[in-house]
Amino acid sequence: MKFTEDLTRSQQTTEGIPGIDTSDADVRIVTSGGRCIAAHSHVLASASTVLEKQLERAEKRRTTSGGGKTIRILGVPCDAVSAFLSFIYTSRCSAEEMERYGVHLLVLSHVYCVGRLKRECERGLARTVTAESVVDLLQLARMCDAAYLKMRCLKVLEGGFKEVEATEGWKFLQAHDPFLELELLQFLDDAESRKKRRMRSRDEQGLYMELNEAMDCLEHICMEGCTTVGPHDGGPPNQTKKGPCQRYSTCMGLQLLIRHFATCRRKVHGGCSRCKRLWQLLRLHSSICERPEPCKVPLCEQFKMKLSVERKEEDGKWRLLVRKVVSAKAMSSLSQRETVELQPHKGCWVG
Ligand SMILES: [Zn+2]
Ligand SMILES: [Zn+2]
Ligand SMILES: [Zn+2]
Repeated sequence: MKFTEDLTRSQQTTEGIPGIDTSDADVRIVTSGGRCIAAHSHVLASASTVLEKQLERAEKRRTTSGGGKTIRILGVPCDAVSAFLSFIYTSRCSAEEMERYGVHLLVLSHVYCVGRLKRECERGLARTVTAESVVDLLQLARMCDAAYLKMRCLKVLEGGFKEVEATEGWKFLQAHDPFLELELLQFLDDAESRKKRRMRSRDEQGLYMELNEAMDCLEHICMEGCTTVGPHDGGPPNQTKKGPCQRYSTCMGLQLLIRHFATCRRKVHGGCSRCKRLWQLLRLHSSICERPEPCKVPLCEQFKMKLSVERKEEDGKWRLLVRKVVSAKAMSSLSQRETVELQPHKGCWVG
């Protein structure tokens, strides 16, 4: 369509913007349907630097060839352009407009650099993402450089890839956009390993917390005694005065282990796994024990002496374990005591 034809046709059908007085408008926006919307240059120019440049060019054309100032916004429905202009004037966009023209408004806001509208569109569209629409919206997000929308789409993809895989959109993508397909598959792969890593570190953290709790219980048993095992220099305390301690499940497991250790015939070097476990716990205690006076936990002093001799050959894995238990100790003393006690403990390390 030639520019002059545009003008002739548009002059016949110039519309206003709902709720805006455009009687003194100085520019006409020609849209795809040949419809034409009246607007004010200064309002458009202040909202969008792209429109500002277009208006400058339109002004030059007008001075050389006469007629009114006209710019064209083509490729989207006229009503979407109307909603776009309405936003420029009022900074508002109705839910209905967003629902009907959200995609077009996102494109317009991106092309014309209207940041606020772009953010609103991204949020509006992000709320509508489903397995059916996710591929289209991802392509749109990529085209419009819409990071927030893309992120929401990826979340949907991650949450239900099986469902997405069965959609027409995905099949279309496979046939026509192998690069995006590859990028998305790569993302899913990474997401899976991220999830595994997170779970692994949570499991590990739980283990160190348990070990830390076992260390606390060990000291408590050896210093004060608990239900069935007395302190290092006496029998079990009188239970009628004292109820079970606060970490009883861990404590009880440990007491069973200590009593087993005292009577086991095979012992550590006979290959008894329960004895070996207590042995490791005692060694761990000694590695983190900072008492300057002789410690009451069995074997603590012996391990310390042995350790100072062997420090150079001490293996890295053990040192790492000690460091992690120490950091779990620091963390648990930082977190509120109540929250720790609310979670029943399995005490699997010492059971
Ligand atoms: Zn106890
Ligand atoms: Zn044993
Ligand atoms: Zn000690």
